[in-house]
Amino acid sequence: MILHSILQQSRRFAVRGFSITQLAGTFVVLVCISLIAIEGWLTWRARAIQLHESEVASANLVQAVGQHAYDTIKAADTVLVGLTERLEKGGQSSANLDRIHELLVRRVAELPQLHGIFVYGEDGSWLVNSQPTLLRNQNNADREYFKFHREHRDVDVHIGVPVRSKSTGEWILPVSRRLNQPDGRFAGVALATIRIEYFSDFFRRFDIGRDGAILLALDNGIMLVRRPFNPKTLGRDISRLPLFHDYLPKAPVATVTFTSGQDGVTRINSYRKLRQYPLVVSAALSRDEVLARWRADAYLNAGVVTLLVLALGLAGLRLVKQIGLRIQAEAELVRARDSLETLNRTLERLAMQDGLTGLANRRQFDSSLSDEFSRAVRNASSLALIMIDVDCFKQYNDIYGHSAGDECLKVIGKVVGGSKHRPGDLAARYGGEELVVLLPGTDVAGAMSVAESIRIAIAELALEHKGNRAGHVTISAGVEALAPARAQSEPIDLIVAADKALYRAKHSGRNRVCTAGQDDAMSPEMITA
Ligand code: GH3
Ligand code: MG
Ligand code: MG
Repeated sequence: MILHSILQQSRRFAVRGFSITQLAGTFVVLVCISLIAIEGWLTWRARAIQLHESEVASANLVQAVGQHAYDTIKAADTVLVGLTERLEKGGQSSANLDRIHELLVRRVAELPQLHGIFVYGEDGSWLVNSQPTLLRNQNNADREYFKFHREHRDVDVHIGVPVRSKSTGEWILPVSRRLNQPDGRFAGVALATIRIEYFSDFFRRFDIGRDGAILLALDNGIMLVRRPFNPKTLGRDISRLPLFHDYLPKAPVATVTFTSGQDGVTRINSYRKLRQYPLVVSAALSRDEVLARWRADAYLNAGVVTLLVLALGLAGLRLVKQIGLRIQAEAELVRARDSLETLNRTLERLAMQDGLTGLANRRQFDSSLSDEFSRAVRNASSLALIMIDVDCFKQYNDIYGHSAGDECLKVIGKVVGGSKHRPGDLAARYGGEELVVLLPGTDVAGAMSVAESIRIAIAELALEHKGNRAGHVTISAGVEALAPARAQSEPIDLIVAADKALYRAKHSGRNRVCTAGQDDAMSPEMITA
């Protein structure tokens, strides 16, 4: 059905300079290209969505990590704030230190992130701490935080670099505050140590893939904790890395994608600089891992689309071929019909034509006579008929042979055929060597003149005929015209009358034209006279 309507349209398109097969082929190609383009676009969009979702996920992750870092340090610092106040107000008497010791033991038990709380005197000696049994034989004057507070009058909290605990050997993050004498001189340091493991345990809870990373660092680029955990990286200066060097100076919170210069992995990095503490947290997801699912889907979809395009292409090719074949078949049918029509016309013409002379045959003459007769009666117009018979033709055949007789008839036929002057005139072979000329709208006089000119033309051919008195081929003609006054009622009456006139011509000596109602026939002698 569709094929049929496509074929129906074919001519209309062909007019515009495109064949239907070209159009169908272009259509199939366009559909295939559209499919590939849509699939490509959808895949690209899915990638963008996936990347966006991962950026949101890493931003959320860094938010959670930042909050956790803040809460953890805030809890330790709250203890330190209370502790410095007690020490500065209550002094470092052993009674006060004993009370503080109990408090510290309780605090450390309450806060799981705390490894310990320590108070050092101005010389670095251990004054009090959270250990159940108080040891006083150690000195921490060599620690970074101790030196920092001794040299800085600043009373804000100080976050140090990770160190191994002298008491337990664990990796710890020191968070400390300076103790002042009432006159503002250095009185020592209050220190809370946070287990690095507390952070790394928290970091481990997140699904960040194989190449993902979570980082807690000081804002000056000193690494505090990192997942994946590696003791060698603790305290390392990473301020030259892009995160600190390129991005952090531009914005305190951002999500950026860049390729690591260290392991060559491209990651979606979200980072956040904490407002309350000099800390930076960062979470990074490997772009390759993030896109792994998308990539698998993209390959699958590409495979399906390729198969679809192949199937469509093959089906389209078949369709185009089919259309081509149908059009070819249709064209062949049209050609066959045309040649049949030509053949029919030829047959029709042949059926109405005389084979020897090429004039109309008897059948056509009968039909034309009937038509013209009716028309003449209807219009009260005249219709003339000339009946021609070759003189002494039997002798001609006898003398020159039948085929020479045929040739002679052909020549005479040509002359008679050439006598037609109007579109309605008809010259026909009536039978044997008898020819007729039908002249619509012509009266007897007109027909006589036509008949006479035929007679003269044939005589002037001077075709030798020894059996003819004239010495050459001549004809006799009988003329009659339909006139309403004479009231001929049938076409045959016209023929009979013309035949009668012809008979008269023969009997009057041949080589002449006679009419039915005429007393004397027109003879060559009369014309020349
Ligand atoms: P007339 O002058 O009285 O007409 O004498 P005629 O010999 O012509 O007599 P008629 O008309 O009766 O004879 C017709 C002859 O014409 C008979 C036949 O041999 C010849 N004839 C008729 N048809 C053909 C034809 O197709 N070819 C040839 N070669 N001869 C034909
Ligand atoms: Mg005859
Ligand atoms: Mg004859």
